[in-house]
Amino acid sequence: MLAPDVVRLAEALLAQHLPGRGWTFAFDRAVRRAGACHHVERRITLSRHLAERAEEDEVRQVLLHEVAHALAGHRAAHGPRWRARAAAIGYTGSRLHDRPIAEDRATWVGTCPAGHEHRRFRRPTRETSCGLCSRRFSRASLIAWRPAAVEVR
Ligand SMILES: [Zn+2]
Ligand SMILES: [Zn+2]
Repeated sequence: MLAPDVVRLAEALLAQHLPGRGWTFAFDRAVRRAGACHHVERRITLSRHLAERAEEDEVRQVLLHEVAHALAGHRAAHGPRWRARAAAIGYTGSRLHDRPIAEDRATWVGTCPAGHEHRRFRRPTRETSCGLCSRRFSRASLIAWRPAAVEVR
């Protein structure tokens, strides 16, 4: 989605759901989460990286997620109060945006056959085996790597 279109969509959603309450929209530079709700500043932000790569439906869902935070208040977190607000404004809980914004920027999570979890900040370039299962490289303990899901806060 083009940045000006994202801004228009965000401002329309703010006008619709939070009229006259002083909420504003801005882009941020996050790469590991899609959107954020800044309660003190009354600002909803969206990752520029996500916005550039996402379809309108996906951007709308992330914005609705954050608008629901603004409506429900900081203390509601992702509890029942937030869920009710989110559902009422059309947030479908779609997991579309629960994927990395960019694989090269994602955190990588790996699991060995025994279930030990490992994390890397770069995509592993060679086969790695689990150091907890075997002190030396072992094909029986290969770690399967996948990009971690983007956090939606
Ligand atoms: Zn292991
Ligand atoms: Zn959230």
